[in-house]
Amino acid sequence: MFDDAKKQIVESAQELTRKGYLMATGGNLSLRIAGQNAFAITPSNYDYMKMAPDDVCVLDFELNLLEGTRKPSVESSMHGAVYQVRSDVTAIVHTHQVYASALTLIKAPIPALFDEQARFLGRSVDIIPYAPSGTGFLKNTVAKHVKNHNNAFMMQNHGALVFGHDMERAIHNVEILEKCALAYLLAICSERKISKIPLAVREVAFSKLRNDQKKVERGESVKGGE
Ligand code: 13P
Ligand code: ZN
Repeated sequence: MFDDAKKQIVESAQELTRKGYLMATGGNLSLRIAGQNAFAITPSNYDYMKMAPDDVCVLDFELNLLEGTRKPSVESSMHGAVYQVRSDVTAIVHTHQVYASALTLIKAPIPALFDEQARFLGRSVDIIPYAPSGTGFLKNTVAKHVKNHNNAFMMQNHGALVFGHDMERAIHNVEILEKCALAYLLAICSERKISKIPLAVREVAFSKLRNDQKKVERGESVKGGE
């Protein structure tokens, strides 16, 4: 069962590894199983390039293992909590991508700098305060912060947490986040005044993202998005 979801998890994990967003065994990704109160997630501490569909775990929201033989990611409770508080989210990618991680060390949220950032990631990319990896503290802190409808966050001294209405969108959002993080870091290093996009433009872009999210909540499909 769940063959499509498991295959998508493996292909996406390997794509993110090839592109340099997942390194060694850091990070994890998951996919909501439609209509099942369940999600497929990467196994813990397992080489992405060796991963096969049968290595992927399927859990319900109480974290019972429905399928799989490996230990599920230590962040499974965090993924499960996001699916429960954000019914518009279908795919979650957590990475230790370098530039976004660097911004977490100086606790610098990314304001609205680019049009496509506001359109796909939300009004800002906020810092979620530190809690140790794989703990209930991190799960609870994340569940509280993601209610603002943004689709990308940075976890202090840890990494990135990115959502999408499907896995392809979540991967694109990981790429947009890393581009924004690098550009912002370079701009910060210049010590010059950093300009943002106009507030009205940010709000129009964010309302398009909200419309996509509401479509998902109504069970309608979302196209690429202008
Ligand atoms: P897992 O290998 O258990 O998914 O943990 C990796 C990680 O990034 C923890 O935050
Ligand atoms: Zn991590």
